[in-house]
Amino acid sequence: MSKIPYRFYLTEDRMPKQWYNLRADMPEQPDPMLNPATLEPLREEDLYPIFCKELAHQEMDSETAYIDIPEEIQEMYRIYRPSPLIRAYNLEKALGTPARIYYKFEGNNTSGSHKLNSAIAQAYYAKKQGLTSLTTETGAGQWGTALSEACAYFGIPLTVYMVKCSYNQKPYRKAVMQTFDANVIPSPSDTTEVGRRILADDPDTTGSLGCAISEAVEKATTTSGCRYVLGSVLNQVLLHQSIIGLEAKTAMEMLGEYPDIVIGCAGGGSNLGGLIAPFMRDKLVDKKDIRFIAVEPASCPSLTRGKYAYDFCDTGRVTPMARMYTLGCGFIPSANHAGGLRYHGMSPILSKLYHDGYMEAVAYEQTKVFEAAKLFARVETILPAPESSHAIKCAVDEALKCKETGEEKTILFGLTGTGYFDMTAYSAFNEGKMTDYIPTDEDLQRAFDMLPKV
Ligand SMILES: *Cc1c(COP(=O)(O)O)cnc(C)c1O
Repeated sequence: MSKIPYRFYLTEDRMPKQWYNLRADMPEQPDPMLNPATLEPLREEDLYPIFCKELAHQEMDSETAYIDIPEEIQEMYRIYRPSPLIRAYNLEKALGTPARIYYKFEGNNTSGSHKLNSAIAQAYYAKKQGLTSLTTETGAGQWGTALSEACAYFGIPLTVYMVKCSYNQKPYRKAVMQTFDANVIPSPSDTTEVGRRILADDPDTTGSLGCAISEAVEKATTTSGCRYVLGSVLNQVLLHQSIIGLEAKTAMEMLGEYPDIVIGCAGGGSNLGGLIAPFMRDKLVDKKDIRFIAVEPASCPSLTRGKYAYDFCDTGRVTPMARMYTLGCGFIPSANHAGGLRYHGMSPILSKLYHDGYMEAVAYEQTKVFEAAKLFARVETILPAPESSHAIKCAVDEALKCKETGEEKTILFGLTGTGYFDMTAYSAFNEGKMTDYIPTDEDLQRAFDMLPKV
């Protein structure tokens, strides 16, 4: 067999024409979302005031395994997809490992991350339904950027509530969104009821993703023809992100490869859920022996130290409740945490798989993550996003274990994006100023105490 190329691209005709819905093959379903007022399981119609209809349908559909990707969405996917599957020859050499390391690189688009895969779908369905505007939140800025791009393409006005500390730290992210005509507002703000309430409680708050979600949802539900869209956590987002795993699996099969371990960073779980989806199917249905590892920051450890409980998806307690691994919707990660992945909860699908023992999870401190990022950048020449670097760190550790045991494992990880807007964090690391913070059990308990009683 000829040598496996450094970068492997599927040809356009091999690109997936359907998304894969992992729920259809799960032995047990995640618990249903609950209406916070009645504590009754949500019905699809209950979601119509928040999400557009097709997306509400996808959210609740746990039966259809393969869902057609509309032609208009495929057309925009083809602008930047397929994304390459890269063999990390240089990283393998630097580590001296017998493991074969592959990564699926999602940073080859203006938004710089995998988030565009779902942004396009959500903007498209909103446009198709005749909606006249959308709202969303953004933390680090990637989702807001991706959605701005998608909304500009399909011609829908967008308001982005951007977590205040990011708004101040990442002015260029804001500029990119504004270039795509998005209206960017630092959150909490005085443009919503919930924002005004949060500001009254704590005027100096730097904001949180959960709080920005509350504001975006309020704005959507109080504006006619407007809906809210979310870039992670939801079942529909994992569905759209399955394109990552489907492409990766086809590419690996064409190279005569199959992973022993699949690794991804986990914020709300969308890239990981999308990457593992078709491989998890192989484990669940065909009983393939394959390990899955979710990697999270030690400063926001929802899987490794959170509780599997019903919780709100936002700080303002306005969204439906989902059963998931959560640190409590009142949890706000320490301000020194620069590495992304700040969300308090985790996708209900991934939470269920983890709870039932189909997936593992590890947490790393951010300085260790940036060490791995730097090694990776030097040898592989891609400047990774801090979020993605969590997966790099774990892949490095697994490859080093192979070095000890001499096992030639095949490792696949998701390189979700580039880090060009995270240079403040890189500078802090390079200047030796980056610190680690691990919440104490007491810190966590304070947020657990505020979990809704269900
Ligand atoms: C948003 C983001 C993540 C984390 O989100 P998930 O929904 O957990 O995938 C990871 N990497 C990058 C580059 C991101 O922008």
